[in-house]
Amino acid sequence: MRLARVPWRTRLATWWSPGKTKGIAWRAPAPARIEHIAVVGAGVAGLTAARLLHDAGHRVSVIEARDRIGGRVHTVDVGPARVDLGAATFHGIRDNPVATFAAAHGVRWRPRRFGLPHLFGADGAAFDLPTRRAYIQQLSALWHTGERLVGQDPQATVSDVIEQHLSGWAAPGLDPAAFRHFATVLFETDPAGPVTEMTAAGIGAYDDLDGSNHIPDGGYGPIVRHLATGLHITLGRPVRKLSGRGHDVELTFDDGPALVVDRVVCTLPLAVLKARSVEMWPGLSAAKVRAVGRLGVGQLEKAVLVYDRRWWDPPVDTHRLCQVTGPAPLDRAYAVFDEYSDHTGAPTWVGWIGGPSARPCLSTRTDDDILAAAHARLAGLFGDRAPAAPVAARLTRWGDDPYALGAYSHVPQGAVPDDYRAVAAPEWRQRLLFAGEATMPHHFQSVHGAMMSGMREADRVMALTAS
Ligand SMILES: Cc1cc2nc3c(=O)[nH]c(=O)nc-3n(C[C@H](O)[C@H](O)[C@H](O)COP(=O)(O)OP(=O)(O)OC[C@H]3O[C@@H](n4cnc5c(N)ncnc54)[C@H](O)[C@@H]3O)c2cc1C
Repeated sequence: MRLARVPWRTRLATWWSPGKTKGIAWRAPAPARIEHIAVVGAGVAGLTAARLLHDAGHRVSVIEARDRIGGRVHTVDVGPARVDLGAATFHGIRDNPVATFAAAHGVRWRPRRFGLPHLFGADGAAFDLPTRRAYIQQLSALWHTGERLVGQDPQATVSDVIEQHLSGWAAPGLDPAAFRHFATVLFETDPAGPVTEMTAAGIGAYDDLDGSNHIPDGGYGPIVRHLATGLHITLGRPVRKLSGRGHDVELTFDDGPALVVDRVVCTLPLAVLKARSVEMWPGLSAAKVRAVGRLGVGQLEKAVLVYDRRWWDPPVDTHRLCQVTGPAPLDRAYAVFDEYSDHTGAPTWVGWIGGPSARPCLSTRTDDDILAAAHARLAGLFGDRAPAAPVAARLTRWGDDPYALGAYSHVPQGAVPDDYRAVAAPEWRQRLLFAGEATMPHHFQSVHGAMMSGMREADRVMALTAS
């Protein structure tokens, strides 16, 4: 069963409509029983659940391991540019609770410049317009091949789809090997898993929101700050163990006293659940353990390059550049660059390092080396017009961050999209609830999915405490 759009729209109208309390109007009946609820994690899922439960009258304690809020949303200054190191984009604005919430708080957003990506060969030579069009046409045709193949084999991988497509190659003017590389880098940039493992059915399960991509002014930072306003949040306090004790749950930490609460909303990222770095006693249900084990987490890193002027010439008319084939051996790292200059306040490019190329690239080289290589790759696409170096640069390492251990979830072979429901299912007689992007069967990998999951679990608590 797919999540219907209408209920979300109804929910938005009743929960997030601009109104009395700075945009959040909680119209649910007051709880009959006030509970003390701990929310583990101050990412968007946790802050959303906490915000709604706090406003409804519950006593809410948010416990966050890092010394900041936002989780995989992290807005920073890189020299003169304000940059999102994690999520940056609203993927669709219709029925997007994040956009609705942002609007209610006066946060504005602008559309992402959109057009045919500029494509380049291994030598950095730019492809002409007809060739660019032909590549993109093949990409659309690849989706149809994918739909057909999934109908025959729901476990078909993205790589199977690419190979099936190439076996009936109908674009004699294009090099099929170059198209394989192009498709692979795009899928490894988003959704960031290995094409040999991610299923096409999993990619198809993601339900696009309408309204195209937009970027909030000032980044996501102001949105999470508005969500967090007035909440009781403890930073720098990693939870080490959750113990279900019948009618309550105990949270334990490396030091300091344990916290005993009526209920927990756990928003640990999927990779953290997989690593079992937070002990759960008694154990979780077999169905949840299986689903957590089967779903995958990809790696996606940003090499942020900020310049003092827009030196690229000719100017680009879209936000994306892609080197269709690249120099070996790290040919898929920073094969894709996105421009963010319209949004960050300074000329800015992000080189993507995603999928299986990320690990060898990141584990063998320093940040400075990687950023220099990304700058050299970008410079190589525009002849000799580039400055010697960016004025500021920053590399992310989400995969090494113990509180993320990767970018976001995907559905690899052996898993099914329904596994997300099992990750979402409550445990310990509904004393332990789960939210987060990896609990959303059709809105995973996104900030709006994280927010919807927080709304869903707040709703669940409200139902449980209504009488
Ligand atoms: C590079 C990158 C680019 C992305 N781009 C986009 C985009 O453009 N648009 C989009 O919609 N989405 C994007 N995403 C995905 C989006 O960021 C996530 O789906 C979303 O932010 C997840 O929110 P969450 O609340 O589920 O998890 P998180 O934000 O990860 O929150 C979980 C929280 O739990 C905390 N935690 C972990 N362990 C413990 C512990 N032991 N004790 C206490 N706290 C703990 C973490 O510190 C974190 O704050 C991107 C992600 C990445 C990495």
